Amino acid sequence: MDKISIIVPCYNEEESLPLFYREVCKVMEQIPETEVEFVFVDDGSRDHTLRVLRKLAEDPRCNYFSFSRNFGKEAAMYAGLRHATGDYCVIMDADLQHPPSLLKEMYHAVSQEGFDCCAGFREDREGEGKLRNFLSRGFYKVIQRMCSLDMTDGTGDFRMMSRQVVNSILKMKEYNRYMKGIFSFVGFETKLIPFHNVERAAGTTKWNLKSLFRYAMDGIFSFSTAPAAWAGVLGILLLFVAFLVLAVSLFQTLFSQAIGMWPWVIALILGLSGIQMCFIGVLGQYAAKGYMETKNRPVYIIKDSSQRKRRS
Ligand code: UDP
Ligand code: MG
Repeated sequence: MDKISIIVPCYNEEESLPLFYREVCKVMEQIPETEVEFVFVDDGSRDHTLRVLRKLAEDPRCNYFSFSRNFGKEAAMYAGLRHATGDYCVIMDADLQHPPSLLKEMYHAVSQEGFDCCAGFREDREGEGKLRNFLSRGFYKVIQRMCSLDMTDGTGDFRMMSRQVVNSILKMKEYNRYMKGIFSFVGFETKLIPFHNVERAAGTTKWNLKSLFRYAMDGIFSFSTAPAAWAGVLGILLLFVAFLVLAVSLFQTLFSQAIGMWPWVIALILGLSGIQMCFIGVLGQYAAKGYMETKNRPVYIIKDSSQRKRRS
């Protein structure tokens, strides 16, 4: 009998979790040829998520791992995958925005149709803010161009993977984890199943524009070195323009005396130093990422878990 691990990153999800658990159990009953295991990861929630998880863990199929603080969704997904023991693993949000009704079709795709992975593909972004929608679309266009990896807009973390895919993901031990890039990096045959965006079942989104921007930058700097290459090319172009401007202003001052040289020089100095600061910023991003990797810090720290509780 195949075992399916359902990995659920949770941050302040006390209201959604009981609904989620009930809904998923109902769907899994429709796949009687499988056995289910829940791996809830409490990402340092500030509400009563942990209390709810302890209650859910009365069901022996439910395991939870609770972080010592908020490490972010990427870390929670990584911890979930590491502790999952199933033949197939699926990552799902706790707020029911990833429809459990797709699980049956996903399982069929990975167990019968020969796919290694089956991902939910969000067809629309209804119910999401207009600005967030616009920025997200723009970001995916940019990252598609920059990285030689296929990161489709609409496919997220909601996917069922075979053990082989999960083990490949776990081999990627980087500290700066960007799951969408990692999924695409490991490759494998992936089937896409479309679904409509739905509002969260309860609670509120944990993302704001600032955190989304940081997430987008993480994605770009973790999976593309194109910004550093562009910086170099732009630097050479600017040097060329600077020479041209200097030559023109020198020529004008010598022959027509129509314009002094100072405005040009000041503009050049300001322009070039601005661009240089920008390049230093780009290089700094890569240096910082490399620096964090060399520290070899743990991606997350577990403070409490159902295994510990059951042992004591
Ligand atoms: N999440 C998490 N850690 C965080 C932020 C979010 O584990 O720091 C979880 C959250 O509990 C949910 C999932 O990641 O299960 C998606 O978060 P959310 O619904 O807030 O994101 P959105 O659907 O708005 O993109
Ligand atoms: Mg959500």
